[in-house]
Amino acid sequence: MSELAERFETHDPGEKQVAEKIRCDACPVMCYISDGRTGACDRYGNVGGRIVRMDPLTILDHAAETGAAVVPFVAEGEAWDGELVNTGRRFVTAIGAGTTYPDYKPAPFIVSQQVEGVDLVTVVTEGIFSYCGVKVKIDTDRHIGPETATVRVAGEAIGHVTTGEYGSQMLSLGGVHHLTGGSKAEGRATCDALLNLCNRKPVELTIDGGATVIVEAGKPPVIDGKPEHRMRVGCGSATIGMFATQWRGLVDEVVVVDDHITGVVSEHQAGKVLGWQDTGIKIIGRRSTPGRYFKVSEPGLGWGGTSISDPLSILGEWNAKKGARPGLSLLMVSTTGEQFAYYELDDQLKPVQKPFPERLQKSVGLIEDNCEPALCTVLFVGGAGGSLRAGVTENPVNLTRSVQGLTTYVTVGGAPVYVWPGGGITLMVDVVSVPEGAFGYVPTPALVAPIEFTLRRDDYVRLGGYEAEIRSVEDILAKGGEYLNPRRGTGASASNPWPPLAQLRRAAGNGAG
Ligand code: SF4
Repeated sequence: MSELAERFETHDPGEKQVAEKIRCDACPVMCYISDGRTGACDRYGNVGGRIVRMDPLTILDHAAETGAAVVPFVAEGEAWDGELVNTGRRFVTAIGAGTTYPDYKPAPFIVSQQVEGVDLVTVVTEGIFSYCGVKVKIDTDRHIGPETATVRVAGEAIGHVTTGEYGSQMLSLGGVHHLTGGSKAEGRATCDALLNLCNRKPVELTIDGGATVIVEAGKPPVIDGKPEHRMRVGCGSATIGMFATQWRGLVDEVVVVDDHITGVVSEHQAGKVLGWQDTGIKIIGRRSTPGRYFKVSEPGLGWGGTSISDPLSILGEWNAKKGARPGLSLLMVSTTGEQFAYYELDDQLKPVQKPFPERLQKSVGLIEDNCEPALCTVLFVGGAGGSLRAGVTENPVNLTRSVQGLTTYVTVGGAPVYVWPGGGITLMVDVVSVPEGAFGYVPTPALVAPIEFTLRRDDYVRLGGYEAEIRSVEDILAKGGEYLNPRRGTGASASNPWPPLAQLRRAAGNGAG
């Protein structure tokens, strides 16, 4: 049983209160915690009879933008020893902020800051997401499993394979059905996997009828024990188009083997434009348009995401009436350039493999050089629900409208998000742009993610915000908040913009204030 699963077992909201225990009410589990101990999620503890958020509140310094710590930890009650001048480039994240649960109270921090003459307010809270999951992009040609196949961790279903993208296989993991709609074990395994993926840790996934894949955000996937190195340069047809001129005069025919679209240079439009001669080649597969073939094989772990290890298996008889002749040369290559072979037709018009000629090395190398490194990408997707929105304003729909109207800028741990159009606040963020270790969990089960809403102060007041709760950055640095945890300063990532200038201009353009 994982450490996380044990925690689910040992903490029960129905546990009897003992005199020296105090109750944490930061989530529906409502742990009773003894002095010196932490609750089920490890995020809150009983320190001397008070509920304390155990991780420090993280403040990003965009003036530093190094990623390295610039200000040491500051314990509760100690003075902040960093300079207190408002640079306008400091951002109070929700990492370590605490939550608004049980919904009715304002967010833990509502921060004011003047940036370039504009009064801004950032509402900062750690959201509890029962409705959340991750979308995983795995850069590989290899077939990791059929669409809709179940993805499992430790035997439990946590998601499924979804539609592939250009050069990548895609997984959809988590979601409320796996978190809360199945067995307890399924919910725990799902929560555990999502937490680790969001915190950039490796997770081993097994796919029904497919492969075992180790996914770690920002790292190459490991498929059935083999690390993937390259992401395809394009489909077989695109590869033909890109490199047809390189092969001209060096070889009579080129086939780029691809599970999706296998390309044949002599028939392809690119080859025709360049004056490529017919070769009498026959591809076993479904011809789409000239020089482009579908379904030359079943999907698999072989050449170009097919199941084949011998590329000749996709060729039929060569036709002398259409150009086949003894000595005709043939290059077969995969979409990443990792597999390649050279053949010449014998007197019976059968291809015979020959040593790979020096003259073609450069073109195969060029395909490899044009491939990008294969990586795993993990996007957290969550819906901001009741407790989150009520912590921002007394009239939660106003926040939704403000986000959709682009007058509120949403971040997760300071990282910009994509907010889906349509109803609600459904956001998506690349976990590698969020500071490490920013995600947590509660055993309901649900994920905890930092979320910040930034908007002009006058807009905030107008949408029914908690004006009386607004505090300055300096005050927060110096005094902290309800959960008595220390503050920690760290350099911000240069790729996460702050202040959100474009957003501010748009807000100003809307005539607010
Ligand atoms: S699980 Fe964590 S947040 Fe929830 S009540 Fe227990 S200690 Fe508090």
